[in-house]
Order: sequence, then structure tokens, then C-alpha cells
Amino acid sequence: MFETAMKKNSKNGKNNDEQARNFSRQFLYALLILMALAALYSTIAGSLENKKEISLSDVVAKINAGEVSEISVLDSELTVKMKNGETLQAQKEQETGFTETLKNYNVDPGKLKDVKVQIQTRGFMNTLFGVIVPIMGPVVLIGFFIWFMARQVQRGSMQALTFGQSRARLINPEDGKDHVTFKDVAGVKEAKEELKEVVDFLKNPKKFLDIGAKIPKGVLLMGPPGVGKTMLAKAVAGEAGAPFFYMSASEFIELFVGVGASRVRDLFKLAKKAAPAIIFVDELDAIGRIRGAGIGGGHDEREQTLNQILVEMDGMETNDRIIVLAATNRPDVLDPALLRPGRFDRRVVLDLPDINDRVAILEIHSRNKPVEDDVQLRVIAERTPGFSGADLANLVNEAAISAAREDRKKVGQTDLINSIEKVMLGPERKSHILSPEEKKIAAYHEAGHALVATSLIHADPVHKVSIVSRGRAAGYTLKLPSEDRHMYTRSHFLDEMASALGGYAAEKLVFGELTTGPSDDLQKAAAVARSMVMRFGMSDKIGPSVLGEREEMIFLGRELTTERNYSEETARLIDEEVKHLIDNAYSRAREVITSRRKKLDAIAEYLIEHETIERHDFETLVKEREV
Ligand code: ADP
Repeated sequence: MFETAMKKNSKNGKNNDEQARNFSRQFLYALLILMALAALYSTIAGSLENKKEISLSDVVAKINAGEVSEISVLDSELTVKMKNGETLQAQKEQETGFTETLKNYNVDPGKLKDVKVQIQTRGFMNTLFGVIVPIMGPVVLIGFFIWFMARQVQRGSMQALTFGQSRARLINPEDGKDHVTFKDVAGVKEAKEELKEVVDFLKNPKKFLDIGAKIPKGVLLMGPPGVGKTMLAKAVAGEAGAPFFYMSASEFIELFVGVGASRVRDLFKLAKKAAPAIIFVDELDAIGRIRGAGIGGGHDEREQTLNQILVEMDGMETNDRIIVLAATNRPDVLDPALLRPGRFDRRVVLDLPDINDRVAILEIHSRNKPVEDDVQLRVIAERTPGFSGADLANLVNEAAISAAREDRKKVGQTDLINSIEKVMLGPERKSHILSPEEKKIAAYHEAGHALVATSLIHADPVHKVSIVSRGRAAGYTLKLPSEDRHMYTRSHFLDEMASALGGYAAEKLVFGELTTGPSDDLQKAAAVARSMVMRFGMSDKIGPSVLGEREEMIFLGRELTTERNYSEETARLIDEEVKHLIDNAYSRAREVITSRRKKLDAIAEYLIEHETIERHDFETLVKEREV
């Protein structure tokens, strides 16, 4: 029953473009039918009327003169065929018979005998085209147009009525294609454990209700983008065999105040009809931000929508058997009212996958792709720390695309390895050709990064250095942590900052001149320094305080962040400390480069010649690692 309701909804949700196209198509049909009818009518009418009309007395005169060969009579119409082949038309009175009329006009009975007289009755077609079509035709056409216009108007008003209906997409348990289960989601063990309870409740609520347990109404899935929040929510529905209503929070909101709230009501109504069911609200932070934090209006709609969600969740009875799952990557900006018990009181955190999870995710996504026997997914997983599930899915897909492009039937290890960089940095831009001078600068710049990174023990090891453009970068030094990291130390930050400034230091030292190349590096180093001072308490002078509370507002659709809860004096101190850290990092980078200048030249020359250097060759080139 609600399936039809959903279908109706999706129908109403058709966009205006499609309707405009439909309208013009129907208009064209109507016009064609009209033209065809007109053409038909005119031929028939033409065939009826294209005859010469004469008076009755003339007919009699012609009979008397012996010129007529045949007369056919149809009602009051006489069709007179002359001996010379001509056909004439005449009218008689309706009431009087044909012979009687001729008698009244003194026809010569002798001559009349020679004329073949046919009395006809109207056939169906003749009646249709001679009588009905001329009268009814215009009426029918006008009627058709009125109906056609009325339909269009009605459709418009229907749309206005369904404006407030929810536009949720529905995945039914019977839909084989979209059926996701926990098996399809790799890793995220704790999240799965937590959600298994939800599945259990949807399947046998009695067990929980009998013991007086209250089942959570809402579960909030938190985690960075692409870690599988949506997928996990779908899997809950798939495991429980319950319908899954999917809607992104921003889809509630329209220009008009009240529409969002009405859509929320409608969504919950639909879900209740379909219970047990899962409602999934993606990107909850789009409406769930802290209320009253906006300037410049436009917030009423968002707040009303949020309020309506809260109201609906409060009104939900345990035996409604609906569970609201929501996803966000910004739990920090959510309104506290959403998080209190009885609403989204369960919170499930999804982390970026660790190495074993990455292997599992890669396995899942290469399941339906033919791969070479020598493919080692663990090697790929080792090289992809920090990748999300979505990145890994994308990586496998890119590898398959590149194999197919080269007409190979199976995906090889090299395809996968090459896709790592493609996913990280964008596709290679081989056409982006550097002049010999630029190439030299780029080579020294990247060599600077790589040499500093490899010389400092707390920096991530170098995996690859290249001066082939990729995405926006003219060259890159690929550094990857040797294992998954969940915490960062002060020493790591200091070494990373120094290696970020390695390119700058190399350019300055070798060429005595600077380019725009290091601008990104400078920004990165400054951001790390500022975070160290203001967020992590890693500066001696400032100590363990967090400065600059983040307060976010939305103004005309843009996020404004204000971060000022300290005095002018502290501000100056922060700037000093940031500068101190950056200067320090720079002098360390310069020191490495000056003392190992020969190595720098060796790496740069290798790069100028080969453009890319892999980890193994790089390490033999640099050899020892300084502590
Ligand atoms: P989110 O909602 O967290 O942004 P999605 O659930 O939409 O992320 O994930 C995007 C895609 O990434 C999925 O369709 C899936 O292909 C892949 N993916 C993400 N995490 C996993 C995982 N743990 N196991 C398998 N595939 C995953």
C-alpha cells in the first residue's frame, strides 16, 4: 500500500523539465490529430461539394431536352449525371417525393422514362461524414482542448499539494540489487556489534519488550566521509528485512518555511505504515546544527524542520518499531537536543579502516572483478593508510578501468598500485611539460622534501618522489606512515614541518631565488604550527590551553568561523610562537640540505633523468638515515 504512495511521491517529484517536455509533446500530438482531422474533413467535404449546383426547373428542362442519363436521390439532394459526362447537383423540397416534384414542374413522362432514377438511403459513412462530422467535429475539438488544458492545470495544482510530501527513496527488502548485509561491510566491528542489537529488535521486539527494556529510537553514525555509514545503515535494514527510507537532511529544506517540517511528518507517517522500518537521514548536520546560531534569517526553516524531527522522535512509541539512523561527519556542531536520551542516544563511531580492514574492503570490492594471480591486496593495503572505504572502492575501480583501457582481461598489481596515486593526487598530467629550467627547480624542490624527510627519524618514510604533474601538484613526494596512526607526537609534527619546508630550503640554497612552487608547503607548515600552539598545547610559552573556540554560523549559505576568545597580548604571543616553530623547522631543513648537499644533487639528477624514483632506489641512493 505504501509502495503505491511512494510511487505517487516519486511521480510528483518529477522535475519541471520533464513536465515541460511532456507538455510540448502532448501539444504536438494534439496539433497533429487536429491537422489530420481537418485534412480528412476537407477531402470528404470537398468531394461532396465540388459539384455544380443547378435549380430544379433546370433539371426538368434538361430531362425534357433528353440530356440527362441518370439521377440519384439522397434525401433532398439530387445528383444529376448528364449524358456528356458532367455531374450536377440540385435540391428538392424535403417533404415532397421525387416523382411528384418532377410532375409539379411538368416533366415530360416520356423523357423521364429514359432517365435511370436511383433512390438512395443514407449509409452509415455518409451519415457520419455528411451530417455528424460537420456538426459534431468542432464541438469535439473544442471539448478536447478544454480537457487538455484542464489536465495541465490540474497537474500543476496537484504538484502544489504534494510539495510537502517526503521525497524519501525507499529500498524494499525484496529489492535484490540494493540488498546489503553486514557481510558486504568490511571492518567497523564495534559499529556492527552495536547495530546487531537494532536488527535483533526489529526482528523480535517481543523479547525486549517483555523484559521492559526500552529500545533506542535513534542511532547516530559518526565518522569521516566514505567510511561506510550509509552502507551500514542499509545493511541494518537488509539484515532485518525491513524497508529502508533514505533521505538526505538537506532534501527536507525548501525555500518555503514549513515545507521541511511537513516532509518530516510525511516521512514518519510512511515509515509507520511500513513498520518495522528504518529511516535513514544522511548528513544530519545540515539541519541538526545548534539552533539559534544563525544570522540573516533563513534559519526558521531549518529550525522548524529540526524541531519536527525531535517531535516525531518523541512521539514514537516503542511498538511503532521504527528506528531512525542518522549519519554525520560533524558531530561537534549538532544541537544538544538531538543527542539527549530518547532521541539519538546511541552513538556509533566509525573510524577510517586499519590495515586488516583495508585488505577486507579491497577483497569485497575486487570480488566481482577478475584479478591476476599475483595480486597482493595486503601490499596495496599497506600503501594506503588514511584511505576511507570509499577511496578503496574507487581505487579498485580505477585499476579495473585502466586494465580495460589497455584491453587486458584481468586487473594486475601494477594497475592497483598506479591507482593509489591517482586516487590520492589526481590523474597524471603528462601533457603538462616543464621547461628544462623548471624541471631542474622542481627536481631540487622535491629532492629537498624527500631528503629532509628521510633524514629525520619522526617524519613518515618516503615511498616515491616524482616530478610528473598530478592533479594540481607539479611534482610530489609520497610519504606514508609505516603503520596506522591514531596519535601524533610533537616530534612528528616538528619533523613533518621541517620536511614540508625542505623544498623551500633547497630552492633557496641551490638557486638563490624563490618561486611560487612552495606556497602550498608554507601553508601546510603554518597550519600545523598554529594547531600545535592553539589546539594541542604543544608550545612551551602558551602551555596547555586551547585558544580560539570554534563558533560556526551560516550566513547567506556560507560558513563563517569566528575564533577569538583571547586577548591581544595572547594573540601576539601565538603569532610569535607560530613564527618560532616555523623558523625552527626551516633552519633544521636548511641544515640537512647543507650538510647533505651531495645527496641532494644525486636525487635531483636522478629525477631530472628519470622523473620518478621509487622507494627502493631512493633508499639505496640516500643510504644511511641520520638520527
Ligand atoms: P558514508 O555514508 O560514510 O559517507 P558510504 O556508506 O556512502 O559512506 O560509502 C561509500 C562507498 O564506499 C560504499 O558504497 C562502498 O562501496 C564503500 N565502502 C565504504 N566503507 C566500506 C566498508 N567498510 N566495506 C566495504 N565497502 C565500503
